[in-house]
Amino acid sequence: MKRVYNFNAGPSAMPLEVLEEVQQEFLDFKGTGMSVVEISHRSKAYQEMQDETIALMKKLLNIPEGYKIVFLQGGGSHQFLMVAMNFLKGKAGYINTGVWSKKAKEAAAFYGDVYDVATSAGDNFSFIPDMNEAGTFDIEPDTDYVYLTSNNTIHGTEWQTFPHFDVPLIADMSSDFLARPVDVAKFDLIYAGIQKNVGPAGAVVVIIKEELLEKANDALPPYLQYKTFVDKDSTYNTPPVFCIYFINKVLHWLDRNGGLEAMEAINRKKAKIVYDAIDRSEGFYKGHAREDSRSIMNVTFNLATPELEKEFAEAGTAQDLIGLKGHRSVGGCRASIYNAVPLAACEALAKFMDEFRVLHQ
Ligand code: PMP
Repeated sequence: MKRVYNFNAGPSAMPLEVLEEVQQEFLDFKGTGMSVVEISHRSKAYQEMQDETIALMKKLLNIPEGYKIVFLQGGGSHQFLMVAMNFLKGKAGYINTGVWSKKAKEAAAFYGDVYDVATSAGDNFSFIPDMNEAGTFDIEPDTDYVYLTSNNTIHGTEWQTFPHFDVPLIADMSSDFLARPVDVAKFDLIYAGIQKNVGPAGAVVVIIKEELLEKANDALPPYLQYKTFVDKDSTYNTPPVFCIYFINKVLHWLDRNGGLEAMEAINRKKAKIVYDAIDRSEGFYKGHAREDSRSIMNVTFNLATPELEKEFAEAGTAQDLIGLKGHRSVGGCRASIYNAVPLAACEALAKFMDEFRVLHQ
C-alpha cells in the first residue's frame, strides 16, 4: 500500500487513523453484524451515533445554548440557495471575497435583492476587507442578513477575526471548519460542506441559531426549510449516514488530539513552513494572498509563467506531492493543507519548493 502527501483542495486528505478505524469497523458496526451503510437510520445504534456526533461537535466548538445542528445534503452550493430561500425577504448583503461568495450571491439573487457589503474583486480577491477601514462595510437599511465566506478556498485568503453587524451574520465555513476555534455566538448561521476537513463529500453541517429560525420563510416546501430538519433531528428523510458516521470519527480524532486550539496551533505551524518557502524565494514563488489575509488552509502562489507552474505541479506529482495545481478558474498553484495533512507533508513540500527553485532560478 502506498499513501502520498495529499494537497487536494476537496475532497481532500482525511486522517489516516480515521480511515483505518472506518475500515476496521466497516463489516460490523457496533456489534450489529451490519455495516453502518446497511443499518436503518431509525435504529437505536444509528441514532446514538448521530446524537454523539452532535454532542461532540457542540463540545469541540463550544456552541452556546440556543443553537441547533443539522446534517443536510446537496453540498455547499445547495446552501447558497437554502440560505436565501429561508431568510432573504427583501435584501441581503454579501461580502464578496471570491468565487464562492460570488456564487452564493448570484444564487441568492433569484430570491431577492443582493448587494456587495464589501469586496476584494478589484484586487483579484487577494485580501479580506479590513473591518476597521472607514466605509468598507456599508450595510443598507432593511438588510435581512450579511453573508461571508470565512476561508476562500480558491484564492487562499481567510478571515482572521470576524466583523459584527446589527443584522444576522451567516457564514460559509466549508474550507476552514474545525481548523481553529470559532466564537459561534457571533454568527446566526454557519454551514460547512464536509469534504475538506471533516469527511467524504455528501453532507453539509449547519449550525443555526433558534432566533434566526423563527424568522425563516415558511412558505416553502418542507424539504427546503431548515426548520423541517431541525424539528425532525436531521432525519426528515434518509440522512447521509456514512458521512455523519465519518464526521463522528473525525470529531473523536480532534478530541483525542487536543481539540480546536491544538489543531489551530499545528495548522499555523504547517502554514508557516509553506509560506516561509514562498517568502525566502525572492519572488520565484509569488504568494497570491496579502500577508494579513493569508489562509492557513489553502496556500496559493504563482510562478513566472503558466508553463513553469505546470512543470512545478508535475514535478510535485512525480515526488508523491499530489494536488499542487491551482483551481481551474484562476490557475497558478495551490497547496491545501487541511487538518489531516501532516506537518511532515508541509516540510516535504517546502523542501521540494526550495529544490525546484534552485533548479529553475
Ligand atoms: N464554499 C466553499 C468555501 C467551497 O470551497 C466550496 C467548494 N469547494 C463550496 C462552497 C461549494 O461546495 P460544493 O461543491 O459542496 O457545492
